[in-house]
Amino acid sequence: MNIVVLVSDAMRARNLGCYGYDKDTSPWMDRIAAEGVRFSHAFSAINSTDPSFTTMFTGKHPVSHGLRNHAKWVTALEKSYMTGLRFLPEILHDNGFVTIGLDWLGKWHRKGYDYYGGLKNDPATIVRPDSGAGDAPQTSCEPPCRKSSSRDWKKRLPKLSLMPSRGNWYYALGDGARRAVRGYFRRRQQRSGKGLSGRKRRPMLSDAAGLTDLAIDSIRQFAGKQSFFLFVHYWDTHIPYTAPRSLVRHFLNNYRYPETPTADILAKVAGTKAEHLIHKTTRGKTPGTIGEIMALYDASIRYVDENVGRMYACLEESGVLDDTLLVITADHGESMTEHDIYFDHHGLYDPQIRVPLIMRHGDIRGGAVHDEFVQHFDLAPTILDMAGVSDDGARFDGQSLMDLVRGGSWDRPCVFAEEMCGQQKRMIRDRRFKYIAALNDEPCVLCRRYHCRTDEFYDLVNDPGESRNIIDDPRHVEYKRQLEAYIEGLVKPQAGKSVVFADEDEVNKRLEALGYI
Ligand SMILES: [Zn+2]
Repeated sequence: MNIVVLVSDAMRARNLGCYGYDKDTSPWMDRIAAEGVRFSHAFSAINSTDPSFTTMFTGKHPVSHGLRNHAKWVTALEKSYMTGLRFLPEILHDNGFVTIGLDWLGKWHRKGYDYYGGLKNDPATIVRPDSGAGDAPQTSCEPPCRKSSSRDWKKRLPKLSLMPSRGNWYYALGDGARRAVRGYFRRRQQRSGKGLSGRKRRPMLSDAAGLTDLAIDSIRQFAGKQSFFLFVHYWDTHIPYTAPRSLVRHFLNNYRYPETPTADILAKVAGTKAEHLIHKTTRGKTPGTIGEIMALYDASIRYVDENVGRMYACLEESGVLDDTLLVITADHGESMTEHDIYFDHHGLYDPQIRVPLIMRHGDIRGGAVHDEFVQHFDLAPTILDMAGVSDDGARFDGQSLMDLVRGGSWDRPCVFAEEMCGQQKRMIRDRRFKYIAALNDEPCVLCRRYHCRTDEFYDLVNDPGESRNIIDDPRHVEYKRQLEAYIEGLVKPQAGKSVVFADEDEVNKRLEALGYI
């Protein structure tokens, strides 16, 4: 059997047709949900990318794996936790799967892959010893070794000149022109005769179509010959929203969007990082209305969806569709102006943490919708369960979703999530109430103001938009107690050796170009 995990960055559940959206953003994902199983109450455990992926691939809550910050804010101590953890690709690799990651987050996210970013992955280059004064023991590696491993690493980095960024010419092209550019690189690569395992590759075009080209190559190379685990990280639904113009026009021409001038929201966050992010939502000139930005986001979901369709067709043509567990989710959601949070994912309101989760496999009865609470830390145990693999070195906070799919019991009355970068907050939510604890008294790093200075308590039945804080309601006390007890009960990580991931600076620069500042 094979496993394909598709994660679209910042793709919130509510903007997909199968989650009730009124615009045609997701015909392919809707079809896959109809043929498989959809989880209507799936939540991320945190609202930023690095810790969210770490949760998905370790099966642990962020407090439990210890990686709670994102990008350059990740501390030396947090990094030291990563070397001792078992990641899902490592377990699958050790059990005979060829493992392929089409992503460029690098660092510990590369662990366990045979191929990463379209190139052969060398585990020896993932970590090098910390050359600074770390807070944990150094390794014995001598300086010349560090130097050469750093050089080797540079040679192995996927060429990402065409990554999504505001100034990138590729993202200014329409769909047809993008196809022509990809075809040019593809033909050049075919002439050079190098495949997935070759040293030379075409530039990794990291829009949804470019990543899907690579994914299709991988599927064709291994389908029917070796079990594969393929992970694809789509970025199109994260700012800058870079869908081809034809798709953006489709949404603007066929649907009504708010006509509020973008200048109105820019005025509210003038001089802050949040203002900078609004200018980064698109490749070119900042759109005149917030509705245009929303249409860009919807078009980006549709662009990902079309490529999910290409992937589905390739699995079908290769004869492995029903023998492949196909998982579709997002690392976190996105706020489209709700709570005065603009085209970003800080905050622990439902738009930021409620994610799509769809699974399809020939053995899963089609059309089921489960409304039980599920979270990203359930994914690793689910995938191992489906693959028939058990691993003594892995301890999960989650549970296999197959227990639910097969009709077993599921005792999960609530979900938990937290936030460390924009603000420091922690949340518990059940079907009736949500309690958010403020862990410090600092304003939002991005907006330089308080979204809410106190703890928050919302009645989700009578106030689904989470707009009236009823923290004076004494019922919040029990939620606060449950949240504290849950965090207390999680097994905490052990500090390891102080390490530097060889590609940290490179990856952080890419993230900065995307708006992480
Ligand atoms: Zn903010």
